[in-house]
This record gives sequence, structure tokens and C-alpha cells, in this order.
Amino acid sequence: MFDTIILGSGPAGLTAALYCARANKSTLIIAGDTLGGQTSEIARLENYPGFTGTGMELIQFMLKQATAFGATIVYTSATNISWDDNFNYSITCDNGKQYESKTVVVATGARPRQLSIDGARELIGRGVSYCATCDGFFYSGKNVLIIGGGNCALNDALYLSDLAHDVKIIYRRASFTRAEEILVDRVNERKNITPVFNTELTSIRQNPDSQNGELIATLSTGDEIVCDGIFVAIGHEANTDYLSETIKRDDLGRLSPDSLPAGMFVSGDVHSGIKMQVATAVGTGCTAAMDAIAYLNSKE
Ligand code: NAP
Repeated sequence: MFDTIILGSGPAGLTAALYCARANKSTLIIAGDTLGGQTSEIARLENYPGFTGTGMELIQFMLKQATAFGATIVYTSATNISWDDNFNYSITCDNGKQYESKTVVVATGARPRQLSIDGARELIGRGVSYCATCDGFFYSGKNVLIIGGGNCALNDALYLSDLAHDVKIIYRRASFTRAEEILVDRVNERKNITPVFNTELTSIRQNPDSQNGELIATLSTGDEIVCDGIFVAIGHEANTDYLSETIKRDDLGRLSPDSLPAGMFVSGDVHSGIKMQVATAVGTGCTAAMDAIAYLNSKE
């Protein structure tokens, strides 16, 4: 039985793993299927203090640091968590194994919210994408749309404008009030980015006359835009589906520390009421680990 199991291998989980392992607690990281969560997709991280680089570089540093203190890692995802009357936890994973621990730190992050309009789901992987850094390369020299108006949408627009010929941001409000000013300024400076305000995407279909997989996007204004790709960035929902329904969540699936069983702690994007930032993930990962360590020490 481990002292603590960390669910997730983003900055929240790896910070929690570092603190627990360094406190001599036996620590297992259940990483998910790939290392780093959403942070691994950040092409340029420039607002995490003391570091500038790709998200994956930061994740690799963090993993190396946590494992140097003895944390171990498995690449699989939790499908169920149960606990007994003494709050000893048993975690079932999709590799078919069960892992047991005295404490659990939930750091499973968030996933992109899905666009629910005609054609959006069917065309994922055939022109519709939720990851600009993963799929942007395929749109070099092409025309793309971005749906959304938050920090993710604007970051995606900036990333894609270096590759694509033309980038249009379809946003339902009259201006970018939700995004950081520095990103809005950068977007406004790019000659190949055009915001289309007060407009929503209502459906997507393949252009029947195109041999190259072109899409036709229909807008709430009635206009149609022919494009090569559509990148959706309309917010995030917490990855908490594997947790018992008895644990209360907010409308984004996030958890409050007060609603968790003894010995379970929460950090990163799963933590309700926290801004989704690498810096806050690290902070809440540290807090969750210190709470877990104090809990373990109080039971010794
Ligand atoms: P977000 O800030 O919640 O923005 C989501 C955007 O999608 C909003 O503009 C929203 O419009 C729009 N939207 C939601 N549902 C929609 C729908 N059905 N159709 C069309 N548009 C829709 O989410 P995010 O951009 O994914 O960012 C998530 C969190 O990560 C935020 O806290 C953000 O600050 C943070 N983040 C920070 C950075 C950074 O520090 N530079 C970078 C990336 C992300 P409305 O505005 O009308 O609601």
C-alpha cells in the first residue's frame, strides 16, 4: 500500500508528487495515458515565473525532480476509486490493475468542452480539432477558423497564424473582454488574424465540391465560410468522471476540498474556484501534498 497516490501528471500532480516523495512518503503517480496533461500541449509558456519554454520541457523537469526523490509513475488512467471504513483507498485503472493507498491527491485536470452543433463531432479528425499545437502543422498555408474568445482561443490564434495563411476567430461577444490584454494586443497586431465578433458557428459540413477536405462553416449571421480547418477553444470541464457520484461537483465537474472523504485532496484544474494556470496548479499541488503529509503523520 502506498502512502499516497497522485492522480494526474500535470504540474499539479507532479508538484504534489515532489512534496510527498521528499517527505519520505511512498508515492505513486498514476499519470494518465500520456505525461503532462494539457500543459504538455503548450507551445510557449511565458507566464510561469522563472521559466520560459514549452510546457513539455517544464513537465520533464518536474518529473525528473519528483522521481529523484523516489516517486514512481505508471501510465494508465483511473476508472474507479473506492475506500473502506478506515479511508484506505483502492484505485482501479484501465491497465487492469488495482493500486492501494492511504491518501489520494486528485490532479486529473480538465478537457476541452465539446462544441455541440451539427457536424462538429462527426468531423473531428477530418478538419475539426481541439488542439492547435497538435494539429496546426497540417494547416500550414491554409485557412482556418477558431471558435471561442478566451485565453486559449487567442493563444491558438497566435500559434496558428505563424503556420496558416488566414485565421479567423469566431466569437459570440462584441470584443475580447475575457482574454488577457497582452494576448488581445498581439492578436490585433497580426495581419493574418481577423476577429469576427457577435457571431456563432451554427453548423459544419464538408464541401462536396472539394477534393482537399475543405469545410463549409455556417454562421449565425447566415453567412458561410469555406475553410480548411476549425479549431474549437470554448472552455474546459474537469476530468472527474471516474469519481463516485456521491462526491459533489460544481457545474464544470470540479471538486471542493470540503466535499471530499478523509485522506482525499484536490489540486490543479480540478479544484473548484481556482484560476486555470500552471502557477495555480503548482500552488494547489503543494497545498494538497502538505495536507496529505499532515494527515498521514497524524495517523502514524
Ligand atoms: P474560457 O476562459 O472559459 O473561455 C471560453 C470561451 O469560449 C469564452 O470566450 C466563451 O464565450 C466561449 N464559449 C463557451 N461556450 C461556447 C459555445 N458553446 N459556443 C461558442 N463560444 C463558446 O476557457 P479557455 O480559454 O479554455 O481557458 C480556460 C482557463 O485557462 C481560463 O481560466 C484561462 O484564463 C486559462 N488560460 C490561461 C492562459 C494564460 O495564462 N495565458 C492560457 C490559456 C488558458 P463567452 O466569453 O461569451 O462566455
